[in-house]
Amino acid sequence: MTDYSRRGLLAAGAAGGLIAAAGTASAEPFAAKPGDGGFARSSNALPPGETVVHHAASDIEAMPDFHFSLDSGRPKVTSGGWAKEATESNFPISKGIAGVHMYLDAGASRELHWHAIAAEWAFILEGKCQAMVIDPSGQREVANFGPGDVWFFPKGHGHSIQTIGDKPCHFILSFDNGGFSEHGTFSITDWVSLTPKDMLAENFGIPAAFFDKMPTGETYIMAGPILPESKAKQFLLPPPQTHKFALMDLAPRIDTNGGSLRLATQKEFPMSKTMSGGVMTLKPGGIREMHWHPNANEWHYYLSGQAEVALFGSGGRGKVKTFIPGDVAYIPAGYGHAIRNVGNEDVEIVITFDSGDFQEISLSDWMAASPNYLLANNFGVNGDTFDKFPKASQHIHKQG
Ligand code: MN
Ligand code: MN
Repeated sequence: MTDYSRRGLLAAGAAGGLIAAAGTASAEPFAAKPGDGGFARSSNALPPGETVVHHAASDIEAMPDFHFSLDSGRPKVTSGGWAKEATESNFPISKGIAGVHMYLDAGASRELHWHAIAAEWAFILEGKCQAMVIDPSGQREVANFGPGDVWFFPKGHGHSIQTIGDKPCHFILSFDNGGFSEHGTFSITDWVSLTPKDMLAENFGIPAAFFDKMPTGETYIMAGPILPESKAKQFLLPPPQTHKFALMDLAPRIDTNGGSLRLATQKEFPMSKTMSGGVMTLKPGGIREMHWHPNANEWHYYLSGQAEVALFGSGGRGKVKTFIPGDVAYIPAGYGHAIRNVGNEDVEIVITFDSGDFQEISLSDWMAASPNYLLANNFGVNGDTFDKFPKASQHIHKQG
């Protein structure tokens, strides 16, 4: 925008209507899309003597729903397990991050595959598994995972997952692209079944007839014999090349009477270049204070408890939703939010961001840094009121 058109916009705003902005140097039509935020879709003219703008009631509804029940979704089921997903197509607000709950029966494996458009982050809920990953230099890692462990596979890197032992293994996956779908992963059985047999014969130097035995289609999660723990040998790479991170060994970055946040960013887990992820706990009565993230979208999967999330989407748009285990929340980058425990047990959340760098701005910190005369003017109340406000954010706290 040129200085000229910015002046035009300001003048139009002062005249009492954003609609008039269409008449400035920009010939673009009014292009607000729900979820973009940044300005009101419409606001009512300020009556004489009034100081507060009342946004049109329809704006509140215009903000897309940020609540999705992942676990009540329809799974993709194959012989060895299932996967349920939350993507932009069934959960439209989640443009930046998709999520999956994947369940592998004992003995089953998720076949060799890769993802063309997203990196993959995982948190193991129950059971044990072995993941193998290969990078473009040909370097591979074979790593064993148990509850509380995290993996990160960069976009496009080949990987597979095999359960270990006689128990099933299930985990939460998070992908740094909302357009990702488990129905569109690049699986090797799918690839082989779609390639002419004489080409396969030439490629591998194997007689074409051999490929008659191969499946037609995609095995995806394939049932199989149990891999005993004694045979699940690891080949671990040292940091920073390793794809495995023991999240529960990490000291929490926030740890107060209200709860805690354990988060593996690129700093703690160098492989995790495009995502950060971890677990947040809110004790009964605990609140994750009002804040926002300038650089990343935020994704939640609820493991336990009952939480209330209030989301602020600008321009009169705000929504409050309750989350229970199996639910997913999506908080677009820059949107204000707060989370509180409204139940009697701990709220535990698997939390991810689509940036390896964690950034946050807390409302309490910001207000504490602002002079009382400014806050008094903003809110139209006595400046002394703000002496009672916190002088620093605790990020998570509990009253009393
Ligand atoms: Mn994958
Ligand atoms: Mn947040």
